[in-house]
Amino acid sequence: MSSKRDYYEVLGVQKKASKEEIKNAYRKLALQYHPDRNKEPSAEGKFKELSEAYAVLSDDEKRKRYDVYGHVGAEEAFRGSEANFEEIFRDAGFGGFRDIFDQMFGRRGGFFGDDLFSFGFGGGGGGGSRRRGRDIIYDMEVTVEDVLRGKKEEVEVPRFDRCKECGGSGAAPGTKPRKCTVCDGQGQTKRVYSQNRFSTIVTMEPCRTCQGQGQIIDKPCTNCRGSGRAKQVKKIKLEIPPGVEDGMAFQLRGEGEMSEAGISGDLIVRLHIKPHPKFERLADGHLLYNLDVKFTDLTLGTDLRVPTLEGSEKLKIPQGTPASAILQIKGKGLPRIGSAGRGDLHLRINVKVPTNLTDRQKALLKELHKELDNQ
Ligand SMILES: [Zn+2]
Ligand SMILES: [Zn+2]
Repeated sequence: MSSKRDYYEVLGVQKKASKEEIKNAYRKLALQYHPDRNKEPSAEGKFKELSEAYAVLSDDEKRKRYDVYGHVGAEEAFRGSEANFEEIFRDAGFGGFRDIFDQMFGRRGGFFGDDLFSFGFGGGGGGGSRRRGRDIIYDMEVTVEDVLRGKKEEVEVPRFDRCKECGGSGAAPGTKPRKCTVCDGQGQTKRVYSQNRFSTIVTMEPCRTCQGQGQIIDKPCTNCRGSGRAKQVKKIKLEIPPGVEDGMAFQLRGEGEMSEAGISGDLIVRLHIKPHPKFERLADGHLLYNLDVKFTDLTLGTDLRVPTLEGSEKLKIPQGTPASAILQIKGKGLPRIGSAGRGDLHLRINVKVPTNLTDRQKALLKELHKELDNQ
């Protein structure tokens, strides 16, 4: 990024745009290129570019300076805006700093890498690197019967969690961590890089003395070796609603792994529907069952009992039903997630051709055959 794009161009607004127009443009574009929503590799860069442009143009003083001096003026302006990011975002209607922080950077951490918290967002919170713990993916097998009724289950999830011995402080019971004097407990130190005469990048780096923790532990807890977290098995009650589909995932916020900064990731419960030996799942909650019938059942018509997920049901086969027919029993399929009612049970006819006929059966059939030929 040796040559920067014009901030007005970045936000797609006129030079004379009102504050309101600038804000609206930023909100619209920021949502569009939000790394959480937009998985394009270029989205992250665009998002940063937008935020930088907005940070300058939303501030009267900085905007004036930028209008007169261009990016050379903005270099100063942008650096100055670093500490105000929380305000800037809140003003733009995105909620508090922590929300944004979590939304943008917490998620999977894949977009920004290890120094993901540094780009102009430093100075918030204090107390070391604020990385969020990893998300845990829990794969859960669900039967078709579970899809019908829903499922409640207590599962055991091994994960890093707050150490019970020290309560998460990392210091041996009876002792306390002390504040790091090098970074004054902030866990990070500021570093300014000059890329060229038009742009400067300010990053916050983890404090080396305290390894970004903001504190020093003289006597570490033996259970967690000072990290404040330990592997534990947590029992979590899961409630799967009826109607779920294969591959669906549920997110339980804060039930994932806890980071050393004490921020927990999410538990993602991913569902795998185990195929049913008898019923095949169709779209919209419909189920398909292959129904074996004799050709005489179709020809003459009959009443049969057919299996359903809940038991059995009476089915009338009308006289003269074609062999290719699919019959239906209304409402005996599966519930549909997010809407009322159930799908239907579809019965695909499968005509059984008899093979081990008795002499008498053969004779009768031959007679029938002749009779039909004469029709
Ligand atoms: Zn420090
Ligand atoms: Zn501990």
